[in-house]
Amino acid sequence: MKPDNFTKPIQNQTAKSLKNLQKFHFFYLCVCIMDLSSLPGLGPKRVRALNEAGYRSIVDLLYNVPRDWVDRTRITPIADCKPDAKVILIGHIARAGMIRGRKSRFTAYLDDGTGQMSLVFFRGANHWAKNLTVGSRWMAIGKVNDYRGLQIVHPELQHMEEETAFEGGIVPVYSISEVLRESRMEQKFFRNLYAQIFKMPNLSVPNGCPKELTEYMGLKPVLENLRRLHFPVSFGDAMQGRLQLKKLELLPFCLRMAKRRRSLALRGRERAIDQGAVMKARAELPYTLTDGQDKALAQILEGLHGKRQFHALLQGDVGSGKTAVAMLAMLAVCGAHEQCAFMVPTDILARQHYVTLKPFFDAAGLRISLLLGATGTVERRSIVSELQMGLTHAVIGTHALFSKDVLFEKLTFVIIDEQHRFGVNQREALLAKGNYPDLLVMSATPIPRSLAMTFYGDLTSIVMREKPPGRMPIKTRLVESEKREDMKSFILKEALGGNRCYWVVSRVEIDSEGGALSVGEVKEELQSFSPEWKVGAVHGQMDDGERDRVLAAFAAGIIHVIVATTVIEVGVNIPAANLMVIDQPERFGLAQLHQLRGRVGRGQAQAWCFLMCEQSNTVRERLAGFAGTEDGFEIAEMDMRDRGAGNLEGSEQSGAWVFRWFDWIEDQNLIQKMLDLSEEILDNKPNFDLATREKIQTWYSELPEGNDDGIH
Ligand code: ADP
Ligand code: MG
Repeated sequence: MKPDNFTKPIQNQTAKSLKNLQKFHFFYLCVCIMDLSSLPGLGPKRVRALNEAGYRSIVDLLYNVPRDWVDRTRITPIADCKPDAKVILIGHIARAGMIRGRKSRFTAYLDDGTGQMSLVFFRGANHWAKNLTVGSRWMAIGKVNDYRGLQIVHPELQHMEEETAFEGGIVPVYSISEVLRESRMEQKFFRNLYAQIFKMPNLSVPNGCPKELTEYMGLKPVLENLRRLHFPVSFGDAMQGRLQLKKLELLPFCLRMAKRRRSLALRGRERAIDQGAVMKARAELPYTLTDGQDKALAQILEGLHGKRQFHALLQGDVGSGKTAVAMLAMLAVCGAHEQCAFMVPTDILARQHYVTLKPFFDAAGLRISLLLGATGTVERRSIVSELQMGLTHAVIGTHALFSKDVLFEKLTFVIIDEQHRFGVNQREALLAKGNYPDLLVMSATPIPRSLAMTFYGDLTSIVMREKPPGRMPIKTRLVESEKREDMKSFILKEALGGNRCYWVVSRVEIDSEGGALSVGEVKEELQSFSPEWKVGAVHGQMDDGERDRVLAAFAAGIIHVIVATTVIEVGVNIPAANLMVIDQPERFGLAQLHQLRGRVGRGQAQAWCFLMCEQSNTVRERLAGFAGTEDGFEIAEMDMRDRGAGNLEGSEQSGAWVFRWFDWIEDQNLIQKMLDLSEEILDNKPNFDLATREKIQTWYSELPEGNDDGIH
């Protein structure tokens, strides 16, 4: 046993991921007739409590694997405890007391006959004061600190009244929620319950991996692995069980992706592209392409030219100049008299791109149009019919492009900007308007390598690392919220001197409970700070026209400061704005902060980003990490480590990113293995007969519920 394994939770799941898991559980309920009342010894009250805690079926319970195991042979006598050691102690509470104050804390002294150890609680002090009564027996697990004597802060605790209940050397430890505790369902109850469950005949989990496949891979079935987690014979056994469950979870996912990769159509011929149009536009650009842009463009042109349908992901950090690359690729296709659709998530961005691209299309004698939700009926009709007749070569638009009535004469290239804003379904809807068009999706939210490989493994990955030359690094500073008045004075002075500022808050509406600042409040606060300046606001609940007017006034210097929500995070490009203040940055993910910060530093002047937050340790550390780098890839990795992949930008709508066993950080190397294995299976290396192959295909094609994204 590695010392770290016994306190490591199975998986870091955030509340949101858990909710997704519960959705997943609900799915099982539908296919699993084994409800809880069929279990002996469970009265209606306990069934209700279990339901309330999220367990609706026996399958739910099976998946409620121990969060921990404790090796009873490794109990440390308190007398032998050394600072920094991770220990398991068993003893009784000799005395205990609450120290009240601004930060109350509760201390209990555990006595095992060889000595006493203080167990200290800052959080949940009242709860522990109620439970850790003098004389009660507990097992405590944690790291020993030396702070005015040896202590363990927030140890893991297990009540030991039921000491004799467990025979084996390895004791599983389950997470017990408050409702369960109230119905007196604790560790002992669960251990007995699982003993019962595993004795049931016909116990099964739905949609398990076909036997032929587990055998081919040398893995045990899911149920067997679950048994190893509930009743491990050794630590190694539990870890093996966990590893196998990860593999079994990843496999269908990887199979689907490998399959998608194979399904790209052959064009059967090389496609004509107009290199001349590309060279001409390149020469007209007011700058020269960076190396990264140049390489990316070459790769894209080669793909467009090739015989096989081309699907690629262009990753380039905020401001790396993806638009120019996309435009040149579009010209290559449009110049050869085929059509392109360029889809973006917001009106602001669509207009911006249109303004940027139009002159180049004009110069090439090609036509480009702009289609938004707000486009008037008459104008819309003419845009649509020109596209359908092939009179227009390219269209830039928002979700309006999905509409049924938008048809093309010959759509062969689809570009999606800020792709994480769109689901796979939407991407498919647009692709369906053409005849196997090529696809370029662009992302400014850098995706950690492991994620990119997993979720976009069916796309050719193109990465642009560098930024255009001459940009000064953005200086990012943490500012304590006590310095708010100073901050305002500073911004006022800068603003009146011609430097414009975004002031970002997390909410549109006033948040009376959560304490988040809202656009309205802060706008008023800033406006009343000085009559000399003009403060504007933009947020998602404004209509687009109004938002564009405010941004235009801001760009023109009529408005000095804009209080904004994250609506500005995508693509807004106002080079005169070089200051950004982010209020309550702890309310944003790092990737999101990175996007926000990318709104400044677009011109030649020094740009600043101030993160205004309270002095709280954990958050400050995270933010300091963010302030220390401008590398979006590094930030994405930090974010993933922090919050789990399930919470990465853009993944929220989708249960697809939530894995029960697989851990994005720990298990990165598993992905490639499972992808390789998927290829083998698709090639039918194992030599399965037709019936088995069909069974396997049905198995991996079944998507988990609630997955709108279709990725998983
Ligand atoms: P993003 O990759 O975030 O979409 P954009 O395409 O919006 O970035 O480009 C950001 C800014 O950089 C634009 O103002 C664009 O004109 C400018 N830009 C793009 N490529 C270069 C380059 N090679 N040299 C200088 N400026 C460039
Ligand atoms: Mg962009």
